[in-house]
Amino acid sequence: MGVWQGDGTAGPVLPIGLVRPKAEIEALAVAWGQSRYRADQVVRWVFRHGVTDPRAMTDLPAGLRDTLAEVAWQQVMETRALQHDPDGTVKGLLELRGSAAAPAQIEAVLIPAGNRLTLCLSSQAGCAIGCPFCATGRMGLRRNLQPGEIAAQVAWARSVAGRWPSHVVFMGMGEPLARYAVVRQAIELLRGPGGFGIGTRRITISTAGVVPGIQALAAEPALQVGLAVSLHAPDDALRDRLVPLNRRWPLEALLSAVREYTRATRRRVSFEYVLLAGINDSPAQARLLARRIEGMLAHVNLIAYNPVPGVPFEPSDERAAQAFGATLKARGIAVTLRRPRGRRIDAACGQLGARHVTANVSRG
Ligand code: SAH
Ligand code: SF4
Repeated sequence: MGVWQGDGTAGPVLPIGLVRPKAEIEALAVAWGQSRYRADQVVRWVFRHGVTDPRAMTDLPAGLRDTLAEVAWQQVMETRALQHDPDGTVKGLLELRGSAAAPAQIEAVLIPAGNRLTLCLSSQAGCAIGCPFCATGRMGLRRNLQPGEIAAQVAWARSVAGRWPSHVVFMGMGEPLARYAVVRQAIELLRGPGGFGIGTRRITISTAGVVPGIQALAAEPALQVGLAVSLHAPDDALRDRLVPLNRRWPLEALLSAVREYTRATRRRVSFEYVLLAGINDSPAQARLLARRIEGMLAHVNLIAYNPVPGVPFEPSDERAAQAFGATLKARGIAVTLRRPRGRRIDAACGQLGARHVTANVSRG
């Protein structure tokens, strides 16, 4: 375990009610009889400086700051727990409160590597897809997030790390393509001049295989966000078990949507493949996988499984992992064997939340 900073407030508490599209902030300003210029100032504070609390927006008149504070504090992102791994990875358990929706806990992970700082963010609290090896999948879907709640994780990252993340991956809790319109709006808040300024090519959506969502990305080739597809199995029978969504969109439908995406965007796709001992890591499975994705503009990320307490899956041993990778490589498939980051702090999907709940139960 890394450094555990305990329960209660363990880090930044951010008002996030102003993490919303510029047009909405303008509409508020106009409704209050303010000029558009004031809206520009607010947008600059939130998206350029990462300041979401109007009380710190020093160039605004005091009265306006108070009015804005009421809006901003209607929604709050509170750091409930913070863990630091010796490798530099930081993981936050964040509670979202306010708005009309019930409070929800999500996770965000910050992974530094040289000049890069990657933020792994959540798009939902929990997940409905129910992959049996995944801690988030086992908790089910607790609540959907709004676009602002998704994007505000960037402001959280900035306040924890003291710098902006350079890359954003949708690999925390939730299935981003389950709600394409919401994630599309979140992307607008993340990127470009109207958002936090993350380069679109540095944003990656990870999906368990929601075919209509992949097709929607393909239909908008100018968007240029990256796509990672969680494959985890080379045949439908096994994938039906590991990624239950496969029963709805089986492998051939998924791979043909991915081909459509690479053709339209000319961007290479990553296939994520979590290596599970004795389940999906045999040489025969590697050969079948190679056959299925041969010739695609793609590479395979082999991921070391992070064990989840009470779950009957184990990581493959090093030899099996190396052999699996070598088999793919020998067939011309680009492959990376991803070194686990933040392992000491359970930095995989859903795990801090699961541990936190367990801790509360055992204490109570
Ligand atoms: N729902 C999306 C994005 C979030 S999960 C998806 O499934 O792609 C991000 C990645 O983490 C997925 O590839 C998922 O299979 C993987 N993952 C989930 N639990 C894991 C664990 N315990 N160890 C390693 N990877 C895990
Ligand atoms: Fe959901 Fe992704 Fe976890 Fe599957 S791996 S349950 S799709 S978060």
